Amino acid sequence: MMTVMLQKADLFQGDLILVSAAHPLLYPATELTPAAEQFSEVLLHVRAQHALSGLLGVLNCGSAIVPVSAYRSHAEQIQLYRDCLLERGPLYTGQFVALPGCSEHQTGLAIDLGENGPKLDYIAPSFPDIGPCRNFRQLAPQFGFIRRYEASKEALTGIADEPWHFRYVGCPHSEIMEQEGMCLEEYLQWLRNFSQDRPLCRNGTQIFFVPYRPGWSLQLPEDAEYTVSGNNIDGCIVTLWEAVP
Ligand SMILES: [Zn+2]
Repeated sequence: MMTVMLQKADLFQGDLILVSAAHPLLYPATELTPAAEQFSEVLLHVRAQHALSGLLGVLNCGSAIVPVSAYRSHAEQIQLYRDCLLERGPLYTGQFVALPGCSEHQTGLAIDLGENGPKLDYIAPSFPDIGPCRNFRQLAPQFGFIRRYEASKEALTGIADEPWHFRYVGCPHSEIMEQEGMCLEEYLQWLRNFSQDRPLCRNGTQIFFVPYRPGWSLQLPEDAEYTVSGNNIDGCIVTLWEAVP
């Protein structure tokens, strides 16, 4: 076995962090890179970018789908929030624009995509349930992305239906959430049922929750392939790939 020491900071970082009005982002995004060629101003975390380019490569839909907005700095989110309040009013803003510090866009793990056309709305781009957009949505979980805000989950997420907004959480989490019909809030809550002794076993991985305590650490098999992500609330999720014999 090997010991993996964790820091308190690990609680607030990783692909599975929940960022919402109740759970603001603590650390600024890192490892940002252009989302796609010819969109050098639209930045994503490097893992999300790799997944996106893999997905778009398989779709092979040319420029039918374009990145509209991905990473936003805190200052940019403030500006966007103010502009939206002035131009579209408080009701619309409350439904579609997260408070500064509480936007997934500040993590670098979220991207708004739009159907390419002459009039792309920056806040609510068109992403219809037909053609390449539909195909993108269907393939997204295989590449680590989830459709983050759906009408049926509005009471849980606090955000209205946003068919254009995708969040990178990584595989196999995206696939399990799709299979179980869970949004991120529900999934993180459900994972609390699984400990290292009784993990969730899916897609060749063991997944379990570790509650935060000062000086926390993990005991994992020697040379284990694993990832650790905080939930941005009170613990971390460990994903352990089963060794291939
Ligand atoms: Zn968005």
